[in-house]
Amino acid sequence: MTLGVLGCLLFLFACGAKDTTSSNVSNQSNSLGLVVPTDSTGWNKLTKEEERVIVYKGTEYPGTGEYVDNHKKGIYHCKRCNVALFESESKFDSGTGWPSFDGFIGESVEVVLDTDGFREEIVCRNCKGHLGHVFYNEGFTKKQTRHCVNSISLKFVEG
Ligand SMILES: [Zn+2]
Repeated sequence: MTLGVLGCLLFLFACGAKDTTSSNVSNQSNSLGLVVPTDSTGWNKLTKEEERVIVYKGTEYPGTGEYVDNHKKGIYHCKRCNVALFESESKFDSGTGWPSFDGFIGESVEVVLDTDGFREEIVCRNCKGHLGHVFYNEGFTKKQTRHCVNSISLKFVEG
């Protein structure tokens, strides 16, 4: 074996070891195995339409979202950062054309005043990605709360 080949092998080993270490230290997996990056460099790349809703606070046309009529059991995660946001148990049919949830997981969702000055916007607490809005006292469920969420802001994992 020449010194050149040995050098290449050492280089490859060093790089491989470094990558493994950094991914173990900087990322953590959530309950369903999706990796939640600790900073924005690890967030999922968004399509133009995802960006329009999640980054620029757009709204999906009602009735068109992927999860409006999804009744499977599982967890809805943030499309951008993979944090677990909603459980299927909290989802209900509101007839509004958007996925509706009467609760969220832990502290994963943050409520902020919409720029319109009266509605309450909901964002992912981790990455601040736009999810939708929250409404109260409409009589849908006992919790009297409807988190109205754009399907495109979510990634559903069955389980
Ligand atoms: Zn997020």
